[in-house]
Amino acid sequence: MKKVLLLKFGELFLKGRNRHDFISRLKNNILRKLTAFSCKLEETQGRLILSGYDEAQEGIIIEKLQQVFGLIGVADALEFETSLEETKKRVAGLNFSGVRTFKIETKRADKNFPLTSMELDKELGAVVLDAHPNLKVDLYESDMVVTVEVRTNGKTYLYNKLHLCAGGLPLGSAGKGLLLLSGGIDSPVAGYLMAKRGLEIEAVHFHSYPYTSPQAKEKVIELAKEISSYCGKIRLHIVSFTEIQEQIHKNCDEEYMITIMRRIMMRIAEKIARANDLGAIVTGESLGQVASQTMQSMNVTNSVVSLPVFRPVIAFDKEEIMALARKIGTYETSILPYEDCCTVFLPKNPVIKPTVKRAEFLETSLDIDALVSQAVNNEEILTIDEF
Ligand code: ATP
Ligand code: MG
Repeated sequence: MKKVLLLKFGELFLKGRNRHDFISRLKNNILRKLTAFSCKLEETQGRLILSGYDEAQEGIIIEKLQQVFGLIGVADALEFETSLEETKKRVAGLNFSGVRTFKIETKRADKNFPLTSMELDKELGAVVLDAHPNLKVDLYESDMVVTVEVRTNGKTYLYNKLHLCAGGLPLGSAGKGLLLLSGGIDSPVAGYLMAKRGLEIEAVHFHSYPYTSPQAKEKVIELAKEISSYCGKIRLHIVSFTEIQEQIHKNCDEEYMITIMRRIMMRIAEKIARANDLGAIVTGESLGQVASQTMQSMNVTNSVVSLPVFRPVIAFDKEEIMALARKIGTYETSILPYEDCCTVFLPKNPVIKPTVKRAEFLETSLDIDALVSQAVNNEEILTIDEF
C-alpha cells in the first residue's frame, strides 16, 4: 500500500491522435511544473498517478497541479493491489470522524474484477456500516464520498478528497498566440483564458515612456509573472509607443486618436506575431465597455490585420472579469494606480462608431510603415518563467 496522487483529466471527447497528443503534453507540462520535486508520474488508462514524492510537500504539489491546464481534479489516494478483502479493510479503516452520512462510489475500469460497481458499492457500504454503526448512507447529500477505483493496472485506488483543478486543455495543444498585455484587469484574464484552451502565449506591451512611468512597465512584468504560473514561459515584447502617440496627437482628429492607436497596436502585434510564428492575437476587450470596444470600433481595428483576433472576455461583465482576476491572483497588481499608454493624451470624446474609411483617410498623414517598423525594431524582449 502506498500514498499517491491520482490525477484526473477530461478526456471523454478525445479520439485517436488527439488523445495521444493531449496526454503526452499534459505529462510533460506536469513534469515541468514539478521540476523542483522528486516524484514519479505514470499513466494508467484514463488516469495519471503521481508517486514517490516527499509527503511533507503534498500540499504544495497539489497547489502546483491546480495550475496545470488539462487536469480536472487531484485526489489524495491510497494505492494497493486489487483485492476485495484488502479494499474492505482499507475502507473500514478510513477516518470518518465528524461524518454523519456517506456514500460509496465505485469505478470499475478493470472489467475482470468479479463484482460490478453496484455490487461493490453495496459490499463496501455494508462494511462501513458494520464498523461505524452510527453512520448513515445518503446518496444525495453525503458528508463524505468514498471513491474506489479498480483500474486496469492491477491496482485499486481509494480516496475521499478531490481537489478541483483548472480544467481546459494542456498548454501548447492549441498552438501559440500573442497577447496584448496592458496593465489593466482584463488582458491578464484574457491571457489566462486562452492558455486554458491550450494556447501558449507570448505577450506584447506598449509603453509611452516618459509619459508613462517605469513602474507602469514593472507592473506589467509582474502581471506576466503572475499569469506565467498558469500560462508557462512567456516572452514579453516591450515596445515603445511614444513616438507613435506623439505623431497621432499632432496629426489626427482627436476623436479618432484611440481608434488609430488601436489600429497601429494591431499592426505591430501582427508583425511580431508573424516573426515569431504566433497564429493569433489576443486582447482583453469586452463588448461595449468603452468607446473603443464597440462592435464598430473592433471592426475598424480588425480590418488592419489578417490573423484571427481572440477576445475571450468579449461577453463578460466587468464584475465577472474582476472575479476571475481575483481567482488567478492578478487583481491586486492590476489595480495599482499607474498610467497606461491609452490614458495619456486621452481624447474627451472618442468616436463610438468609427468607420474604416475615415480611419484610413486620417492615417494618410502618418508614415505608418516606418512607425511600425521602428517600433518593432526597437523592441525589448524579456523571458518570464514562473511556471
Ligand atoms: P485592460 O484592463 O486589459 O487594460 P481595458 O478595459 O483597460 O483593458 P483598453 O485600455 O481599451 O481596455 O484596452 C483594450 C485591450 O487592448 C486590452 O485588454 C489589451 O489587450 C490591449 N491594450 C491596451 N493597452 C495596451 C498596452 N499598453 N499594451 C498592450 N496592450 C494593450
Ligand atoms: Mg487598459
